Amino acid sequence: MALLEVINLEKRFGGIHATDNVSFEVKDHEIVGLIGPNGAGKSTILHLIVGLHKPTSGTIKFESKEIQHLSIHERIKKGISVMFQHSRPLSRQTVLENIELSLLPDKFRVFYPKDIKNKAIEIAKKLGLDLALDKRPNELPFGIVRRMELAKALALNPKLLLLDEPFAGLSHSEVSEFSRLIKSLKAERFSIIVIDHNVKAVKDLVDRIVAIHAGKIIASGIPDEVISNAEVKRVFLGE
Ligand code: ADP
Ligand code: MG
Repeated sequence: MALLEVINLEKRFGGIHATDNVSFEVKDHEIVGLIGPNGAGKSTILHLIVGLHKPTSGTIKFESKEIQHLSIHERIKKGISVMFQHSRPLSRQTVLENIELSLLPDKFRVFYPKDIKNKAIEIAKKLGLDLALDKRPNELPFGIVRRMELAKALALNPKLLLLDEPFAGLSHSEVSEFSRLIKSLKAERFSIIVIDHNVKAVKDLVDRIVAIHAGKIIASGIPDEVISNAEVKRVFLGE
């Protein structure tokens, strides 16, 4: 079943056509790679899905219901959560406090303080943050800070996780580690969109790829199909 359906989505910023007639879907328990060069419109699509922008036109359905008119908070409540391209950790709070604060706004699940702490620790452990719980973000390597951002997104109890350039700025070994974590989340039955500017970076991680260029979808399908597409090769690989 399709968890998310994006139908004829369009977003203009003044004269810029950032999203142009974009349609795709994410099925239950599927990882989709949303790929495109810088400025292609990837983050805009993600911001439209979570409700940071209102579309100029088009429809977004989540669990078969239209959501494009809903607030960000209502969409989070339905089960959509984002790890943004640029980290915005609370620098004076520890890793544990950062995760706890993401659990707090959920007024729909009543937690006692002790339960919030336990839940935050459980999520942190799942992401290998056990040893960083009492550290502040500026005391930690960037790869760990990004894992904390993923923990904050998971704390919102999503069905669909949107990861905007999760590998940007990570070392080779941090990329492998983060890929492993994303795969383990898929095994836990989350649906995931992974954004990257490079087709090759996600081809072994995702079930399907949607490739965009200048706001439009230029190819979509299983990774091998998309990678061998002539326009994808021209746009992404300069061939
Ligand atoms: P990507 O994430 O693929 O690098 P973006 O979605 O960030 O691309 O941007 C797509 C296009 O939309 C770019 O030309 C960018 O300058 C423009 N854009 C994105 N957000 C805004 C905004 N808030 N206001 C005006 N233009 C924007
Ligand atoms: Mg972006």
